[in-house]
Amino acid sequence: ISAQRVADTWVKTTCGYCSVGCGMQIGVREGKVVTSRGDQNHSVNRGKLCPKGLAEHYVLNAENRARYPHLRGKNGLERISWEEALGTMAGEFRRVAEKYGPQAIGVISTGQLVTEEFYTLGKLVQLGLGTSNFDGNTTLCMSTAVSGYKRSFGSDGPPGAYEDFTKAEVILLIGANIAENHPILCQHLDANTKKTLIVADPRVSKTAMMADIFLPVKPRSDLALVNGIAHILIRDGLIDREYIDRHTNGFDELCRFLDKYDPEYVSGITGLSTELLERVAHLYGKANGAFIGWTMGVNHSSKGTETVNAINNLALLTGNVGRVGGSPFSITGQCNAMGTRETGFTSSLPGYRKFENETDREELASLWGVAVERIPTQRGLAYPDIISAVLRKKIRALWIIATNPLVSFPNIDVLKQALGELEFLVVQDCFHPTPTTVLAHMVLPAAAWGEKEGTYTNSERRVSKVNAAVPPPGEALSDFDIFLRLAGELGCREELFPGWKEPRDAFEEWKRVSEGRLCDYSGMTYEVMEAYGGIQWPYPKNADTAPTAARRLYTDGVFETADGRAKLICAEWEPFPEQPSQDYPFVLNTGRTVEHWHTRTKTGAIAILEQIAPRAWLEMNPVDAKRLMLRPHDLVDIVSTRGRVRRVELRVTEVIAPGQVFVPFHFAEWNINEVTQDIFDPISREPNYKQCAVRVEKAASA
Ligand code: SF4
Repeated sequence: ISAQRVADTWVKTTCGYCSVGCGMQIGVREGKVVTSRGDQNHSVNRGKLCPKGLAEHYVLNAENRARYPHLRGKNGLERISWEEALGTMAGEFRRVAEKYGPQAIGVISTGQLVTEEFYTLGKLVQLGLGTSNFDGNTTLCMSTAVSGYKRSFGSDGPPGAYEDFTKAEVILLIGANIAENHPILCQHLDANTKKTLIVADPRVSKTAMMADIFLPVKPRSDLALVNGIAHILIRDGLIDREYIDRHTNGFDELCRFLDKYDPEYVSGITGLSTELLERVAHLYGKANGAFIGWTMGVNHSSKGTETVNAINNLALLTGNVGRVGGSPFSITGQCNAMGTRETGFTSSLPGYRKFENETDREELASLWGVAVERIPTQRGLAYPDIISAVLRKKIRALWIIATNPLVSFPNIDVLKQALGELEFLVVQDCFHPTPTTVLAHMVLPAAAWGEKEGTYTNSERRVSKVNAAVPPPGEALSDFDIFLRLAGELGCREELFPGWKEPRDAFEEWKRVSEGRLCDYSGMTYEVMEAYGGIQWPYPKNADTAPTAARRLYTDGVFETADGRAKLICAEWEPFPEQPSQDYPFVLNTGRTVEHWHTRTKTGAIAILEQIAPRAWLEMNPVDAKRLMLRPHDLVDIVSTRGRVRRVELRVTEVIAPGQVFVPFHFAEWNINEVTQDIFDPISREPNYKQCAVRVEKAASA
């Protein structure tokens, strides 16, 4: 290590990429960030970091950081002052609200903000701007888990803890490539030497390579697989009948419904042998602690919510909800996706209060000292519906915060068309230019991770502290400061945020708002959080266990439904909508690589990661490559009825089955969302990114 890389100060914080929530320290030398390392005392990672975390500090010195506010003028985006920017923004929002009504304003935010910022933004959007059309990019990754939990248990919130990875006898991962996407969770898996690890995935992912039993399921057959396991559990009496009778509704109906999901029927759908199905069901049903984890393989599906319900059924049938080593556990995507779920105004009101519940609305209004009529009785438009409302000219002004939809939205042409319809588009980001900022009427420069304070909640509901190591570059401000200053321009700052100056003010109010709720923060402090490496909620005042203790939900079998019972839900398998055809013979699967994050605005600026993974690739089975006379490293085009991605490098590999291809989604230059489908889960509104029909052609010579 060169002397320039030796830190003189270390600042404790939490990783700003994925939802594992690793504790880390940022090394600063003479006021400049020079390195980062894992926090040995953090309960999640005990000093370890994955490649992204180890290189995260490079983000802060990246060339493409946004430094100054810009407004579109005669010469394109021109630098302006913050006063002019926020005055113009408030004026445009007022103009649109007066002309078309406040619901003509839409806001799309992100799981990258700290909880204090998202909570502040929710109040500002709902009570200050007066619109409910507010959602996060979280709808592109985990809204399915949210709606699945709410339907089964009456509330969102993954019931388990990371400790369950180490205590389970059987771990079933469905559509979850944690070795690539949540690498530090593998440390928890490795600590469990007695487990049987079962991985279901259409592709032989790095996680599949770790499995004791690999289930190479056909694309989108996960729901049939889960129903088939439930059928065998019931048929062979491998269920906890006492738990079912005391804590659930719908058992008899579910039994009748599952009758047809016998092993022969499920084998035909999944491609797995009946013997394998029987073996897996018996392992799961007999385990003392059976854990199911899932991520985007389940969530990125138009049947996603129902698949989550079927997974929850398995855990309920066997009494595994809230049990040590057992849980139906959605592994979240972004560092603070959970924080956005708790503080709400998207799929719930803050504190998982329900829009339709009058008592919940009255309680919230009273906590905030506002008239109950200002609390909405139903959620506003979800992300994809905001985009279609823009196309229909129902939404005229859009505020996009810390997300890059021009790369991440499915069937990208529809989005491009929509953004062109807007009267006012403001994009707030810590990077500029991005494919999205260059289309904006206004760009607001925001502080990045490492430059601001607050908290993130990880996948196991652990709330960890985030700290600033250095100030933001140029005139960039924290998102928190931008929200408060805009509130000042709109004239609602003192009403909504009385005396607020720093994120701690938002945190203290949020603690009061969450008190007594499932996600109770009221006993937490920043100081205790830092001392113990995060605290899991619920953590009420006078919590009866130490901050370090693993906390689980529903340990008493009482759920957040009206009668306290969980629901067993009948969820019917269906084939995916766009089946392969003669013209489009391959099923396209998309996913990630360990070196990159989302649309690569962060990791694309880090040389060490770019050197390892500089470009997109397409994986194809050798049988298909031979038939198409393609060779490794050939450049190919990927074509669907919606578009074409040009000149992607071919990898010929047996990790992908014949008839399927895989492409990572991070790369704007080879944007796979040129060809994906814009169809959505009807309940969660999450896109069906995973399966669509494409053909692969050798690219024309450059
Ligand atoms: Fe960060 Fe996730 Fe890697 Fe941990 S596993 S260092 S939280 S990206």
